[in-house]
Amino acid sequence: MKLAPRTYRQTVQWGFFLFILYLGFQLWRFAVSYGLNGALPETSRPPYPDGAEGFLPIGALTSLKYWLVAGHVHSAHPAAMFIFIGAIAVSVIFKKSFCGWICPIGLISDWLRRPWRRLFKRELSLPPWLDYPLRSLKYIILLFFFWAIVMNMDKAALQGFLDGDYWKVADIKMLLFFTNISALALDVIITLAILSLLLKGFWCRYLCPYGALLGLLSLASPFGIRRDKDRCTGCRKCARECPASLPVDRKERVISPECTSCQSCISACPEDAISYRALRNFTISGPWLAAGILGVFLGVYVLALATGHWHSGVSQADLRRLIPVAGSLEHP
Ligand code: SF4
Ligand code: SF4
Repeated sequence: MKLAPRTYRQTVQWGFFLFILYLGFQLWRFAVSYGLNGALPETSRPPYPDGAEGFLPIGALTSLKYWLVAGHVHSAHPAAMFIFIGAIAVSVIFKKSFCGWICPIGLISDWLRRPWRRLFKRELSLPPWLDYPLRSLKYIILLFFFWAIVMNMDKAALQGFLDGDYWKVADIKMLLFFTNISALALDVIITLAILSLLLKGFWCRYLCPYGALLGLLSLASPFGIRRDKDRCTGCRKCARECPASLPVDRKERVISPECTSCQSCISACPEDAISYRALRNFTISGPWLAAGILGVFLGVYVLALATGHWHSGVSQADLRRLIPVAGSLEHP
């Protein structure tokens, strides 16, 4: 039985989503064993789930710059940086596929758009005069981080941040964001969820600076969506399915920082007119794309592990001192 190309993507997305939930649970157990939220510290504790550091992209960018200017990897949360490098690598090779295949927000956005589609059989979209300026927001946020970290932090400032108490427990702070969520954060999340119900991929399309960066870098990808105009009947099913609202039915080749290689347009096309190709004729099918994305991500993980840059070097003494008070630590 031949599976639709997007089925491979959904399988990988679900696999990562469940794995991320597991990492979050493990991080919570780990933090509680150090006295988080007033718990009594325990003597035996679960291993630290380094993969949870994937939720620290801003610190990861700081670590990456530190590596480039200092010539060595900082020992606190190096996995954050390697996951960031993995996200860049898969997105440069396989066209922003981190957003479409790995990031849990992509999966949640997909869920959120379904009820509306089922109910009303069509989706809302903003008029171009509003859509284009709003799309630039994520690039403005990205520019801010680029200016603050890449342009303005010298080696001493980078080291000061990475050596500091805040970064040592930034993973726990992120955990607390979800487990001890503030009323304001909850309001923001509910607002974003409602907006994502109404407008597909609201967060990814308008606000996510991580996606903005990966999208810009993905323009260097040799892969992309191509439409065979001789087979195309103009039914527009591909464009209607595209979560990025790209006019796939009007392009012979989709060149856009918004395309996430999600394969939805390929699966939707009844004429087999769309393919995922590199350099004109090298077509890659769903299972091979899935294997490629997992292979690149796994390769970066193995590289980090083999070079001794995966496990966090935050000391036991620091964890004992900082985790119980993580909630009150302020950004430096
Ligand atoms: S063009 Fe196709 S692969 Fe790209 S985002 Fe749209 S549906 Fe997904
Ligand atoms: S779904 Fe296929 S046939 Fe229909 S417009 Fe898109 S490319 Fe053409």
